Amino acid sequence: MGNIAHTYYPQSGFLVVLGAGESGVGAAILAKDKGFDVFVSDKGAIATAYKEQLLAEGVAFEELQHSEERIMQANLVVKSPGIPERAPLIQALRGANVPVISEIEFAAQYTDAKLYCITGSNGKSTTTMLTYAIFQNAGVNVGLAGNIGKSFALQVARSNFDVYVLEISSFMLDDMYHFRADVAVILNITPDHLDRYDYKLENYVASKFRMVQNQTANDYFIYCLDDEETMKGLPLHPTKAIHLPFTQNEVLALGAYLDEERNIVINIPNQKEVFTMNIEELSLQGKHNVFNNMASGLMAKAQELRNQAMKESMESYVNISHRLEHVAFIGGVNYINDSKATNVNSVWYALESFSSDIVLIMGGVDKGNDYEMLRDLVRAKVKAIVCIGTDTLRINESFEDDTDVIVNSSSMQDAVEIASYLATKGDTVLLSPACASFDWFKNYEERGDKFKEAVMAL
Ligand code: ADP
Repeated sequence: MGNIAHTYYPQSGFLVVLGAGESGVGAAILAKDKGFDVFVSDKGAIATAYKEQLLAEGVAFEELQHSEERIMQANLVVKSPGIPERAPLIQALRGANVPVISEIEFAAQYTDAKLYCITGSNGKSTTTMLTYAIFQNAGVNVGLAGNIGKSFALQVARSNFDVYVLEISSFMLDDMYHFRADVAVILNITPDHLDRYDYKLENYVASKFRMVQNQTANDYFIYCLDDEETMKGLPLHPTKAIHLPFTQNEVLALGAYLDEERNIVINIPNQKEVFTMNIEELSLQGKHNVFNNMASGLMAKAQELRNQAMKESMESYVNISHRLEHVAFIGGVNYINDSKATNVNSVWYALESFSSDIVLIMGGVDKGNDYEMLRDLVRAKVKAIVCIGTDTLRINESFEDDTDVIVNSSSMQDAVEIASYLATKGDTVLLSPACASFDWFKNYEERGDKFKEAVMAL
C-alpha cells in the first residue's frame, strides 16, 4: 500500500493536527477515516467553513490555543506548513521524539497514484495548472492538489485519482522525509522566504532539493539547466532518477530545448515521437512561460500523452488570474495585473515580457529585496515607477538614477490614476509589485482585484 512504506509512521493511535487550514482539515479527515483518534489544534481562529467541516466529520478540535499537555500525548503530528520549525511546541515535540510531518507526507502513505510534484521559487502555480489542464484534456483521471485547491489528504480520502499534479512549496518540503515523487520538478531557485532558512540561501536550496530525495532509477527529475542555483545544488544533492533538463541556451539529446526556429523540442527516453511546437503558438507568452511549458511538456511526455493532445492544450490554455493577466486596453495603453509577482525575480520576467515603454506599479512589504537584478531592465524599459505600500524608501533609493519619474501613491486607485496620467499611447501599465501585499491588502488576490477595479473605473 502506498507511496511510502507504511512502517515509517504509526498507523493507529492518537494523531494531532496542528493548524486547521485546508491541509490540516484534510489530514484530519483522512486520519479519522484510517481509524486514528484525531485532535485538531489551531493557535488562531478557525475559519467557519473548516469548523463546520470538522463538526460534520466528528473530529475534535480547539482554536485560539494549543493544549500542550494533550498535544504532547500524540503518536504522530501533522503540521501546517505555516508553522515554523522554531515554534516552541514543535521544538518540544521534536525533543520528545514525536514524529512531526507534513500533510503531503502523511497522505502519500495511503495512495498508489502516480505523483507529479512541482516546486521552485516562481512559476509553480502556472506550471501546475498548465500540467493539470494538459492531463485533463488528454483524458487522464487526474487530481490537482498541494498548495492549490482542495488538499491532497482530502482527495486521497474521498476521491480515486490515478495521477496527481501537486504544487509543493519549500515549507511543505521541510516536513517530507520518506515521500517519493514519481516525477519531481524544480523550476528554478532564487532567494525567497530566507527568514525561514536562517538567511542562508544554501538552506533554502537544500529544502527545494528534498523534492528528489528517495527517487529511484525509475523516476524522473525535471530541472532547468539555465538556473544557476539549481545547477550549483545538483552535485550536492544527487538522485538516481532519470534526469530530464530543460534549457533555452543549447541543444540537448534528452530533455527539452529551443531550436534555431524557436521551436520547443522535447525528447525523453523510449518515447515514440519527438515533440515540437513553435513558441509563437503557446498561449502563455514570455520567456518564463517557455520554461513553464517545457516543464509541463516533459511531464506530459513522462505520462506518455500524445503530441497532438499536448499541443491543443498548450495553445489554448488560459492562465489563472493575477499572473501577467491582461486587464484592459484603454486609450492605447495596455493594463496588466501581475499582482502575484511577490519577489524580484518574477518582476524581472514580467519586465522581460514587454517591449513597449512601461509604467511600473510596485512596492508593498519588502522582504529584504535586492533590486540590483532589475536595474538594466528598468533602465531599458521603465519610463516611470509608481510606488504603492507603506515602505517605499528602498525602491526610491534603488532606482533614482534609472528612470525619469518615481512617485509615491496613497492607494491603489491613486496609483492607477497616476500611472494612467504618465502613460501614453503604446505604453504598458504593469502592476508587478516585487513585494508582499499585507500592508495595504489582505493578500495578493485583493491587491490584484483592487488594481482591476481601479483600471475599469478610469
Ligand atoms: P508561484 O506559484 O511559484 O508563486 P506563479 O505561477 O503563481 O508562481 O507565478 C508567480 C509570478 O512569477 C508571476 O508574476 C509570474 O509572472 C512569474 N513567473 C511565472 N513563471 C515563472 C518562471 N518560470 N520564472 C520566473 N518567474 C515566473
